[in-house]
Amino acid sequence: MSVKIVLPGMIDLHAHIFSGLHGAHPERACLARGSTTVLDGGSVGANAFPGFKEYIIERSRTRVQAWLNISSVGLIDTRVGELMGLLWVDVDAAVKMAEANRDSIIGFKARLSTYVAGGDFKPALKLTREAADATGLPIMIHIGDTNDPLPVALGFLRPGDVVTHSLTGRRHGILGYDGKVLPAVREARQAGIHFDAAHGRSHWGFDNIRKALEGGFLVDTLSTDISEPTSADPTFHLPQIMSKLMALGVGLDDLVPLVTSNSARYLKREGELGTLKPGAAGDVSILELQEGTFTLRDNEGQTVQARQRLRPWRTIRAGEVVEAPAES
Ligand SMILES: [Zn+2]
Repeated sequence: MSVKIVLPGMIDLHAHIFSGLHGAHPERACLARGSTTVLDGGSVGANAFPGFKEYIIERSRTRVQAWLNISSVGLIDTRVGELMGLLWVDVDAAVKMAEANRDSIIGFKARLSTYVAGGDFKPALKLTREAADATGLPIMIHIGDTNDPLPVALGFLRPGDVVTHSLTGRRHGILGYDGKVLPAVREARQAGIHFDAAHGRSHWGFDNIRKALEGGFLVDTLSTDISEPTSADPTFHLPQIMSKLMALGVGLDDLVPLVTSNSARYLKREGELGTLKPGAAGDVSILELQEGTFTLRDNEGQTVQARQRLRPWRTIRAGEVVEAPAES
């Protein structure tokens, strides 16, 4: 048995959609899977942003904005981390690009993991802070697999900045060694730091998510971190990411705001996005709520058995109807 549920067009705060450059296709992977607004999470830095703007932002039916990677090279070749030795960090270039593209650059992205920034992320984060302060734009930090614990990174953030991968199963996420949400994380949230949970290929761990939920910590938003290798697999799309939280006991009433109104509020676009009120953008996600037995997986080798699953069915973007692929 299944029913359809109608949501405002979903918003994905962190995805990789430079199609052709390790990114997922913004229409096939995002729009057809229910996301009408997508923020690219730093696929490009100042060097390639003009290309991203011309070929993706301006040509997609999906509404696209971007976090500009503080590294000029962005994710063009990830075999060498883009913040290694700060070789490619050019604050002036990033600031100029952001200033010239206020309509499409939402803030700056810094990935802090050791494989990106080396053993010490602090110098890179300090430079990212400089760019943010110079422009008044926020920072999104990618956490997990760092040498320093998360509170060290939180010390660089200001209200409006975003922690993504908040539900990572990797080292130095939001939990302490005692399995409890770190006091510094709760304080940061209280102070206006936004906690997003991008799933991606390595940042979704059921054990940690259970502990966070037991501690009463539900993130502010969910996002995909989708990229080319995961683009066709439903496990990495928003409806199934939502299903994974449902399987751990989060009800639809708490879940839907994480991909609609909370994200719109973060973007300061309430009334326009994330709502079905008269006067809002004509963006709608129609999901199918299926009943059955489903095995859902995280990125740490764990699974949960779910009795319900959400899958995309139809998306309406500015009045145009897009059908989800059968395998979604
Ligand atoms: Zn990402």
